Amino acid sequence: MKNPNGNEIIQLFESWSPKKIACMENDPIGLAIGTLNKEITKVLVTLDVNEQVADEAINKGCQLIIAHHPPIFRKLSNLRTDTPAGKLYEKLIKNDIAVYAAHTNLDVAEGGVNDLLADALKLKNREILEKTYNEYLMKLAVFVPDDYADKVRVALSKAGAGKIGNYDSCSFSTNGQGRFRALEGANPFIGDIGEMEKTDEEKIEVVFPHSIKNKVLKALLNAHPYEEPAYDIYTLAVETNIMGLGRIGTLQQPMTLREFAEHVKKSLNVPCVRVVGNTDEIVSKVAVVGGDGNKYIHSAKRAGADVFVTGDMYFHVAQDAQSIGLNIVDPGHHVEKVMIKGVAEKMEQLCLEKKLAVQFIQSEINTEPFIFL
Ligand SMILES: [Zn+2]
Repeated sequence: MKNPNGNEIIQLFESWSPKKIACMENDPIGLAIGTLNKEITKVLVTLDVNEQVADEAINKGCQLIIAHHPPIFRKLSNLRTDTPAGKLYEKLIKNDIAVYAAHTNLDVAEGGVNDLLADALKLKNREILEKTYNEYLMKLAVFVPDDYADKVRVALSKAGAGKIGNYDSCSFSTNGQGRFRALEGANPFIGDIGEMEKTDEEKIEVVFPHSIKNKVLKALLNAHPYEEPAYDIYTLAVETNIMGLGRIGTLQQPMTLREFAEHVKKSLNVPCVRVVGNTDEIVSKVAVVGGDGNKYIHSAKRAGADVFVTGDMYFHVAQDAQSIGLNIVDPGHHVEKVMIKGVAEKMEQLCLEKKLAVQFIQSEINTEPFIFL
């Protein structure tokens, strides 16, 4: 076990929650403060970064903070240290504490904020509420001399090609003859310069997601014996790696909206919730969007939700929900705190697999600004 560099930790984090799946324009995600070019022994995981959280990081000996809410959300026009925000940045920099933010990419990620909320509410048969990311499958068809077909198939599958659902190493081959003539300046693997050549070849076809195209091509060119391998590569009208915001699923058993509100309070550990709808109505299908889900009431309704759980519900949006017959339970924005335990445990597991010795500490600071009287 070795202490990792900050970049190694973030590489692992992004293998799970990559920046490209963020679903808000100009979401200020990634390294916000400090540097990752240093050895890390302790990481503090938090929903928000405020001065008490910075003190906690200092007191607990953390060199890196992973936060859900970006600490610098709007562009700075100055860096004064006599403002609350400036004082916070000064403290973090003086104590060499880096801050990395994973915002809407962590909302979308599998096992991210919305899955963690759906876990807490014990939703089953879970689906994505609003698709925000997908890739298209690509197909590679390559012509390989028979004796090298296995080598190429293995290399392609090692690069991640040929994965379909719970199967890997999927490919299809047909036998045929390749014909070619090497010209002056060529260094042919088979045949002579200026002579027509005919050789037994296999056509190997594999699919892969667009995002690994370069990796697959590199593996192909390394494994193929020819100087100029012949291949076709094209995009298919088949979606893959579909991800999105919010989740929708069903309760273990139907209950009244009033009982469901109690279930939310208990499951998400909040003292009270705001409710829109008839509290005697039976609910079973639940949509959830962590944080501010005002924009998604119609998605929730369209997807057939009986009740929508989200925070920061505006007065007029609540009235709109009422008019389309969608029940709402608003437990507040702070329920996103579920990410603290979720991210710490996920990262512990990823680092353990890579034999990296680093501790993930769950912040104990309560960053909920509201008190309920
Ligand atoms: Zn949030």
